[in-house]
Amino acid sequence: MPRGDSIMVNSSAQAYQDALNYVLPISEIFESIQGEGVRTGAQHTFIRIAGCSMPQPCKWCDTKFAFKEDAGRQLTLREIVSLVHLRDVVITGGEPLVHPRVRELCMILKDLNEADITIETNGTIYRDAIRNYVDFFSISPKLSSSGNTFDPRVIQTYLERCSYWFKVQIKFVIDTRTDADEKEVDSFLSAFQSLLELSGAYVVFQPMDDIEKKFALDEYVEVYRDLIEVGSSATAKYPKVRIQCLPQMHKILWGRKPHC
Ligand code: SF4
Repeated sequence: MPRGDSIMVNSSAQAYQDALNYVLPISEIFESIQGEGVRTGAQHTFIRIAGCSMPQPCKWCDTKFAFKEDAGRQLTLREIVSLVHLRDVVITGGEPLVHPRVRELCMILKDLNEADITIETNGTIYRDAIRNYVDFFSISPKLSSSGNTFDPRVIQTYLERCSYWFKVQIKFVIDTRTDADEKEVDSFLSAFQSLLELSGAYVVFQPMDDIEKKFALDEYVEVYRDLIEVGSSATAKYPKVRIQCLPQMHKILWGRKPHC
């Protein structure tokens, strides 16, 4: 990850001061373990920015409180960075990339905190301007069970432009009760098999947690077991793609609360 390309080098001191006063709508900032994907278990500071790019909330969205931009409190980048005390930082949402100023947030986090930055995105937006400041893209395209859709061309852009320099994971939340999501994922793997193999990007299958029902750990584990069978079939078909089946660890530990 290039470190010397900071805003202080590229811009005037005044531009840097101006950027510190930019604001973003913040839903919450907290420290916890990463609960999803291949970085599960690592302590991070989470910066949740309000506002999402989807036309409607995903059916199983567990952060609906951050769906609308006006749900966030306007904080300056200076205030946001002062609340970050860990090196590993997740910028999440909502959909953080609806805000162009996430670029300046990443630059300042790199400059002041030497942060290792993960962006969690739903894969509807690609911003080339932030590429050099992000260490890990966690991209979660939405399958039909979510009630929304994804554009594979945006995911392709991430794979082509980011996975050679940075690590990328494509994370699918899969509803195993029908085979619709499984078919969509298979189409994706078939279309991008070569690119996934070449780039070494992780493909994570995550069990769908039906938020319409009360959370029950034994049922969640059962759904996870079903998902492992889906992962096993996909691995047999695409043996060189790095497929992993992972539950949401924070749900196992704390139920539907995102952190302790
Ligand atoms: S994209 Fe993410 S934040 Fe937006 S509605 Fe879907 S699950 Fe919720």
